[in-house]
Amino acid sequence: MAMTGQEIRKKFLEYFAEHGHEIVSSSSLVPHDDPTLLFTNAGMNQFKDTFLGRETRSYTRATTSQKVVRAGGKHNDLENVGVTSRHHTFFEMLGNFSFGDYFKEDAIKFGWEFLTKVVGLPAEKMFVSVYNDDEEAAQIWRDVIGLDAKDIEYRGEKDNFWAMGDTGPCGPCSEIHIDQGEHTGCQSPDCDRNCECDRHLELWNLVFMQYNRSEDGTLTPLPKPSIDTGMGLERVASVVQGVTSNYDTDLFLPIIKYIADLAGKKYGDSEKDNVSMRVIADHSRAATFLIGDGVLPANDGRGYVLRRIMRRAMRHGRMLGLEGAFFYKVCGFVVDFMKGHYIELADKKPYIAKVVTNEEQSFSRTLNTGLKIIDELLEKNKDSKTISGEDIFKMYDTFGFPVDLLADIAEDNGYVLDNAGFEQEMHTQQERAKKSWSGSGEQRVADVYIKLASTLKSEFVGYEELEAESEVA
Ligand code: ATP
Ligand code: MG
Ligand code: MG
Ligand code: MG
Repeated sequence: MAMTGQEIRKKFLEYFAEHGHEIVSSSSLVPHDDPTLLFTNAGMNQFKDTFLGRETRSYTRATTSQKVVRAGGKHNDLENVGVTSRHHTFFEMLGNFSFGDYFKEDAIKFGWEFLTKVVGLPAEKMFVSVYNDDEEAAQIWRDVIGLDAKDIEYRGEKDNFWAMGDTGPCGPCSEIHIDQGEHTGCQSPDCDRNCECDRHLELWNLVFMQYNRSEDGTLTPLPKPSIDTGMGLERVASVVQGVTSNYDTDLFLPIIKYIADLAGKKYGDSEKDNVSMRVIADHSRAATFLIGDGVLPANDGRGYVLRRIMRRAMRHGRMLGLEGAFFYKVCGFVVDFMKGHYIELADKKPYIAKVVTNEEQSFSRTLNTGLKIIDELLEKNKDSKTISGEDIFKMYDTFGFPVDLLADIAEDNGYVLDNAGFEQEMHTQQERAKKSWSGSGEQRVADVYIKLASTLKSEFVGYEELEAESEVA
């Protein structure tokens, strides 16, 4: 019997505890006192000040299983969910940390030993990457671990220089990958180790924390070279359990089965339904944990990301034929399924259900009116695959349909939105409003209208900003 996800997590923490690491609990998804971060996006976040030397702890080695959300901000995987088998919005990141204690050689030895000895992954299928000029790391992989030169890839800043955000601790890194073989089904004739498909799976990132990046981009050396590593539990589980998708591991299948049962369908029967089930499964974990950590759906900031995640899940529920509120049930299932390790969820089940139900009710009204009209809109534009600014404006102005949601639906169907045209429409409308009311003694009404129009617009800009961030990531 292959190790379960729970067992892998336990073995990981135990292995590092045996090697002198303090087992530290996951921190909240809402970063404590760090305005540079939208959500906790890596295990190292809670140790940021320790790396920077601003805080000392009673230990110099730590290990965690950290709750992480990568939706919005520098590391944004929202659009990957449903598309790849390896990206989630919420996932568990296993990590080991050294605060000025061991450095590259031990980090590499620990990582390799854990994967090949404790977990028993086949060394011959694995390869690593190092940062372009990090000959030291390459030499350790070659001479200390004994890897073939052909299994050491040199990569640039994008893959092998890790940074938490635009500022903060950072450094060159070395990643451990596994080739899962041809059966992962990549169709690209050029599929190689750099392919964006799921075949050459990145398992673990060992970051050699050496610098602090300040706002103007300068790198200052940290007080002491340190280690920060991160490995996605769901990814190791997929390899250990011999499946090629995180969704086929025991960490996800029960959630997917629960969703399939609700919809009266079977996972695996239709690819379109499979995607919806995976999106709902992923998003239910994110929503449950975010609400559990105190985030509420809102029109900006963290709450806005949560709202988008929830609404996307609810929309996929519709696509599966689930009428009425269902998402709160899935989130309830997630609480029961995951509260064994994340005990903070246990007594929050009724609260989470209430928050989700409220959102589900208000969203259902929006969806009922909007979806039919959007279908017509897509049909009308099926040749150009573009939604004009005029139509976006009409959806917004006449039907009150959120533009971000329209964008989600359009993009899911392969359409693009003419955002510039939409801005233009907003502007024209404002001008028209000004003109028609000026001098008629109804100035106050005009003001109200203009204010309303610009509020709508600023909501829209909020969405645009989020998209811009996701392009940077
Ligand atoms: P990728 O290149 O696959 O997007 P990454 O290089 O962005 O991953 P890191 O920032 O290095 O990821 O994070 C450390 C580890 O966390 C990765 O090696 C991977 O195992 C896991 N991981 C990263 N992003 C996700 C995600 N969205 N869902 C699940 N696991 C993830
Ligand atoms: Mg990534
Ligand atoms: Mg990577
Ligand atoms: Mg990485």
